[in-house]
Amino acid sequence: MEIEHEILDKINSTYGEDSQLILKAFEFAKQKHEGQKREDGQEYIVHPYQTAKILIGMNADVVSVVCGLLHDCLEDTECTEKEIINQFGQEVANILVGCSKVELIKQARLNNPDENEPLRKMFLCISKDARVAFVKLADRLDNMRNLAVKLRVKQIKIAQETLDIYVPIAERLGMSKLKRELENLCFMYLLPVEYQETQRVMEENYKKREKIIVDISDSIKELAKKHNVEKIRVQSRIKSNFSIFKKQQKKGKDGIYDIVAHRVIVEEVKDCYTMLGAILDKWKPVEGRFKDYIAHPKENFYRSLHITVLYPTDEGEIPFEVQIRTEEMHNYCEYGMAAHWIYKEVGSKLTSGYESNQKMLELKKNSEQKSVEDNAEEFMEIIKSGFYANKIFVFTPKMNVVELVSGSNPIDLAYAIHSGVGNKCVGAKVNGKMVPIDTELKSADVVEIITSATSKGPSKDWLKIVKMNASREKINAFFKKEMREENIKKGKLILDQAAKTKGYTLSSLLNDDWMDQFLDKSCLSTMEEVYAAIGHGSLASEKVINKLISLYEKANKKQELQINKEFTGDRRTKAAEISGLDGIMTKLAKCCNPVPGDKIVGYISRGRGITIHRSDCPVLKALEKDRLMEIDWGEKLSDSSYVAVIKIIAKNSPSTLASISNKLVENKINISYIYSDKNKEGDAIYTFGIEVNGKQQLSEFINKLHVLPEIYDIER
Ligand code: MN
Repeated sequence: MEIEHEILDKINSTYGEDSQLILKAFEFAKQKHEGQKREDGQEYIVHPYQTAKILIGMNADVVSVVCGLLHDCLEDTECTEKEIINQFGQEVANILVGCSKVELIKQARLNNPDENEPLRKMFLCISKDARVAFVKLADRLDNMRNLAVKLRVKQIKIAQETLDIYVPIAERLGMSKLKRELENLCFMYLLPVEYQETQRVMEENYKKREKIIVDISDSIKELAKKHNVEKIRVQSRIKSNFSIFKKQQKKGKDGIYDIVAHRVIVEEVKDCYTMLGAILDKWKPVEGRFKDYIAHPKENFYRSLHITVLYPTDEGEIPFEVQIRTEEMHNYCEYGMAAHWIYKEVGSKLTSGYESNQKMLELKKNSEQKSVEDNAEEFMEIIKSGFYANKIFVFTPKMNVVELVSGSNPIDLAYAIHSGVGNKCVGAKVNGKMVPIDTELKSADVVEIITSATSKGPSKDWLKIVKMNASREKINAFFKKEMREENIKKGKLILDQAAKTKGYTLSSLLNDDWMDQFLDKSCLSTMEEVYAAIGHGSLASEKVINKLISLYEKANKKQELQINKEFTGDRRTKAAEISGLDGIMTKLAKCCNPVPGDKIVGYISRGRGITIHRSDCPVLKALEKDRLMEIDWGEKLSDSSYVAVIKIIAKNSPSTLASISNKLVENKINISYIYSDKNKEGDAIYTFGIEVNGKQQLSEFINKLHVLPEIYDIER
């Protein structure tokens, strides 16, 4: 077969010098497919040729047309990628490889028939170069046009796949004309009875209304003349069978009158609004049926004015829809992004588009509307960077689709599947081959994660390798848990050792009789937590062991236990007013001594109510995260006092303590206790427990202390 004359003319006039490349691709494909036949017995080359013809009809760029001709060479002939690169360059080869990858979706659908959305996303993602999608859509349209020769089962399968995957993509890319035809063909094969019925009703209606349709078209032309709109085309197109069917489903029989779309195509944007005004003057509008997609383009950049008006007849008023647009908009409405490739090549056309937009903006003085210019830029951005530029979609061996951030590797995939898979991951196969675990994955890779039950868990290096935050969080969670277990072991050893050096055994010190009191005092709820805190380093083993020994000694001497002030009365049951915790036993943690005004966190201890810590308390790190709760101070604070602990590093001289004491007296602050110590440099370290009513009083007091020359530093 040869290229038809009229198509040859169209190629020459549209593609100029590039025509040669198209002819070369045609001859190349013809030779490669030599001897192959289509199912209907025709030469195989007819299919790539028809595919290319669809693309030419959409004003697609030369590379798309070339790829349309070559699209089955890699899959179905002995032609290699290298040969394509040599003959047609890397760009063409990349698009063809993308086209083969799209075929994997077919396989994925077999296993996951309901996962349409991920498959559509994957399709678009493979189409990093939008032209992959253009070629595959044209390919699919030609296949759908020739579906009749297939078995009924195959027809249904292919039509359903087309409806689920290809039609929504055509819609997203704004390729309305191709979408309508695909959709109609799907309708014909999937619901043949309904298709015939709709067809019959439509023809009947059209015959009945033919006169009206012609009259509307003529009236619109007259209106144009009257309003000095010189260049105008009116297309009265019967709406697609499928769209009528859908409308009928939604609105019942009424929708069926609206079977013709009248399109008014003018030269300039201002003419669109002139015609809109003229039409509204002549016919009564249907309320709520006006859409200005020029001021507010659809997501797929569709622009047009839509209005439904009423045509009076003897039988009553009949609604009809008019779509008003410029030639440029019309071209886009029909072919969508595919048509825009021409603009990319011919910059001037895009500029003229901008100009008309500018005029439109002047016309519509709505400051809130999104400028179409912005949309055009956004659009070019999508074309250049591809869809889902920062995402990839890979397959599992069962052909499930997993969405990842681009740059991700098998570890990210393993954690995306499940943290259990991530933690046991030891290797990966990509497209059947073993690969290093940090191999960057690409869309449509089939990735198998190899796990081992004996794996000890992730390596710390993985934190640097993974690309997704989610993976990093899961690895960190693993180490945190691991660390806690390690800390418990470590803490127990330390405490055990500390007991031995004092001449006791830890097991004899841990006695149920006083453990409760001990835990209350240490603001932790189990010995495990005590070990974890010691192992973590936030609790001194010395302190713990001394307390345990004193409790042990007291108990052994059968002395009455001296109950501390902290354990009596109100202090025990209600250490502070905490909002929302009325009636619940609260206790201020001794490790950080929170005072009202501090940011606080509650820790739900086992059977000991809620312990209130400062939110920056290091002990929190050793506690079980899921027992922490957000809390705030309540309001009734006035007469309560709280013990705040401050550590003062100061000059080691007798006068220092006196100065501090004076300040305390001056500010009417009571001292609860004082410890003094020295550091390596010989400075004095005073630990003061002072009674304040809140953070503000404390801060003010600390500021006053800072004034004293003897004081070097104050810590809380
Ligand atoms: Mn094909």
